[in-house]
Amino acid sequence: MGQRRARRPQKPAAPPRSKKQLREDVFLQYGAECALCRLTVTELLSPYWLLVQQGSDSRDAQDALVLCPLHHQAMNVQLLAIHPETFQVAYRIHVDKQALRVEVDDLTHLPNPPSNAALATRRTAWESH
Ligand SMILES: [Zn+2]
Repeated sequence: MGQRRARRPQKPAAPPRSKKQLREDVFLQYGAECALCRLTVTELLSPYWLLVQQGSDSRDAQDALVLCPLHHQAMNVQLLAIHPETFQVAYRIHVDKQALRVEVDDLTHLPNPPSNAALATRRTAWESH
């Protein structure tokens, strides 16, 4: 007959950041514009979480980008990817920068670069797609 003890951390964990706080963190990190088309209509912008691994619950602003709905979806369906070292944008063979309304060649215009590790997980998924 095993006794089950409630797991209690030594120190109370910080309360998880609310969705609104996370959005603010990501906007502070990158500015309030789509990283790919530079759209600045804030109502249309939201954080895009880069980590692909299942079970990953990182909500660090470095693991995100600010994207508009078009570029959220383009990333979701893997029409484009960002190189984790050069930050250059790469495209599937049937689309290009113009077709996807991308206004930049890379992410070097961002005030802070996103995490290389987070971009690498996305890139790996893109390459194996
Ligand atoms: Zn965009």
